[in-house]
Amino acid sequence: MTGRPFILDPLFQSTKSVPGVGPRMTKLLEKVAGPRVSDLFWHLPAGVIDRRFSPKLRDLVGIAEAVATLTIRIEGHFPPKRPGLPYRIKGTDGTGWIDLTFFHALADYLEVQFPVGEERVVSGRIEHYNGLLQMPHPDYITTVETAHQIPAIEPVYPLTAGLTQKVSLKIMRAALSKIPVMDEWLDPAYQQREQLPRWHEAVQSVHNPDNEQAVSPEHPARKRLAYDELLANQLTMALLRQNQQAQKGRSLPGDDALFARALEAFSFDLTGSQKTAIAEVRADMRKPTRMHRLLQGDVGSGKTAVAFLAAIHAIGSGAQAAIMAPTEILARQHEKTISKLAAKLGLKTVTLTGRDKGKVRNEILAAIADGSAHIVIGTHALFQEDVAFRDLALVIIDEQHRFGVHQRLLLSEKGATADMLVMTATPIPRTLTLTVYGDMEVSVLSEKPAGRQPIDTRLVSDERLEEVLQGLQRKIEAGERIYWVCPLVEESEKLDLAAAEERFKMMALRFRRVGLLHGRMKPPEKDKVMEQFAKGELDILVSTTVIEVGVDVPEATVMVIEHAERFGLAQLHQLRGRIGRGTGKSACILLYNPKCSEIAKKRLATIRDSEDGFYISEQDLKLRGAGEMLGTRQSGVPEFRLAHPEFHASLIETAFDDARLILDRDPQLLSPRGLALRTLLYLFERDTAIKYLRSG
Ligand code: ADP
Ligand code: MG
Repeated sequence: MTGRPFILDPLFQSTKSVPGVGPRMTKLLEKVAGPRVSDLFWHLPAGVIDRRFSPKLRDLVGIAEAVATLTIRIEGHFPPKRPGLPYRIKGTDGTGWIDLTFFHALADYLEVQFPVGEERVVSGRIEHYNGLLQMPHPDYITTVETAHQIPAIEPVYPLTAGLTQKVSLKIMRAALSKIPVMDEWLDPAYQQREQLPRWHEAVQSVHNPDNEQAVSPEHPARKRLAYDELLANQLTMALLRQNQQAQKGRSLPGDDALFARALEAFSFDLTGSQKTAIAEVRADMRKPTRMHRLLQGDVGSGKTAVAFLAAIHAIGSGAQAAIMAPTEILARQHEKTISKLAAKLGLKTVTLTGRDKGKVRNEILAAIADGSAHIVIGTHALFQEDVAFRDLALVIIDEQHRFGVHQRLLLSEKGATADMLVMTATPIPRTLTLTVYGDMEVSVLSEKPAGRQPIDTRLVSDERLEEVLQGLQRKIEAGERIYWVCPLVEESEKLDLAAAEERFKMMALRFRRVGLLHGRMKPPEKDKVMEQFAKGELDILVSTTVIEVGVDVPEATVMVIEHAERFGLAQLHQLRGRIGRGTGKSACILLYNPKCSEIAKKRLATIRDSEDGFYISEQDLKLRGAGEMLGTRQSGVPEFRLAHPEFHASLIETAFDDARLILDRDPQLLSPRGLALRTLLYLFERDTAIKYLRSG
């Protein structure tokens, strides 16, 4: 079997293949669900309408609002007396009266639909208006004989302009007729224990809910689909891992004497968790297999020191190490700290980024190629084709969450036999870690370096801006350095920039030594400003969120964040992590608009009350749900369509174990269940993972 199994073809067709869907509808469906038939299946109802309530009119007296299905005799038509009023049709069931009301109605149509003296069944929302019972625009109008066409319970789909509930229902019905019956890929014992329906039954059932509970994530059909998605995710990562383990690595002995000298190069002692982490890393590097280790540590926990020592282990083995950062600023900053340390040991560091051109670039490339550069720091530029190492044994990727899972796949394909250490400051909860890094071993830096003082975080209403500015004056007089972070305006870099420039002008009028940093500046300008700030030639650095990741100026002790209510929790945490890095006492002022939403206030309170990244990320997950968490694009957390990590945490862990067990027994997915699992991988478009398998 090569390529996608035919049985999936109907699901991968355009929604155009569904009867009743034309080009205009295809566009609308693409907007709410996606381009394919399978996207319609994954487009789950957000709720249900229960039409089983069919009372007598007299019983509706005390009920303010409800969905009801009523059988009534039509008594009379009352066209509107002036524009803006509804057309009314009076009906009765012998126990009371009701008005069916229609705005902008066509009288001819209504006269045909509701002949006076006849009975009709109507279903819709009833309400009271001026003491009269009424039903505006019934959802269903039938004769008594055809009343069975009104569904007892109806799914409610997320809609978009131009796509009505009725049309959605019709399209879904038609799409569901294409559903294939596939071989079961779940473990039969698990399926039975959890009472999970078959896949096609589950899809049918989520779209035909028979009660309110059917739309809860706990419902067996929803659980089944969520589990399928999580299993595809975990199986992909397990395959990746299996493939990596099969790749030859090399055993790096390291050099204990050099390592000891490196430890002395630091001006501090390692924390307990730094010691543990580097011991784990060195143990991996000594093994003949390739290392794939994640170093997870909150902002300021000292990941760079661990990275440097890992590099020393590689160099001590006669090889080179590369450190890749997501941005130019970060690469330059690593260069600053690392080259200083390396120089103390007589080692050479070079830095290669996109801005190096011509002769300079050639010289850097030569040093990388002849091995005179022991440590190579850089951005994506490091993975350009003409960058050849003499002997690269270790690749360190900093701030991984900026790269995403897919890039990690690509990188690992490029890195030949090199060990890999990925560092992330995103303290995501364990279950999410599994969805992103399920294939990696994890070291955690759980403690901060000694001597750090807690950051004094305050929420200040933006009406008190003037007081804050006066406070800054005193801080500057006391010799402190200040970050001033400007608000995020929508998703527009341009507007962000305008806001920052505006603020900069205002600050520069008031204070003397103020700098501006934003994403649109040329790299040399950025470096210059950063350096001035680091050296203490500037008191205040006004910036957009470009300082969010990794920037390290330990002397900066004050941070003001404007419109803090617009930032996500993870972002606030990252930003605040720029201060509190030295031994001085730090303060963070969150300026906020007091009219902001309740959720925003909860976020602000969370940040004020905690500095614990893991706690903060758990709150984040609760407040927002995983899809949105940390801004999915940045976090590398995959976007699940059926699984909700906040509800399905235990399913993630089961899928993680399940995937490993499957590959233990059937590493190439060739058993009957294995073949079914291949179909699952295709279903969720994990084609990359399938590349790692022999064809079956
Ligand atoms: P992050 O984990 O956010 O990348 P860094 O590696 O930038 O953190 O370290 C933050 C700051 O803490 C740096 O100024 C670094 O020199 C300092 N640092 C790291 N480890 C220790 C330690 N064990 N004791 C004291 N300071 C340390
Ligand atoms: Mg860092």
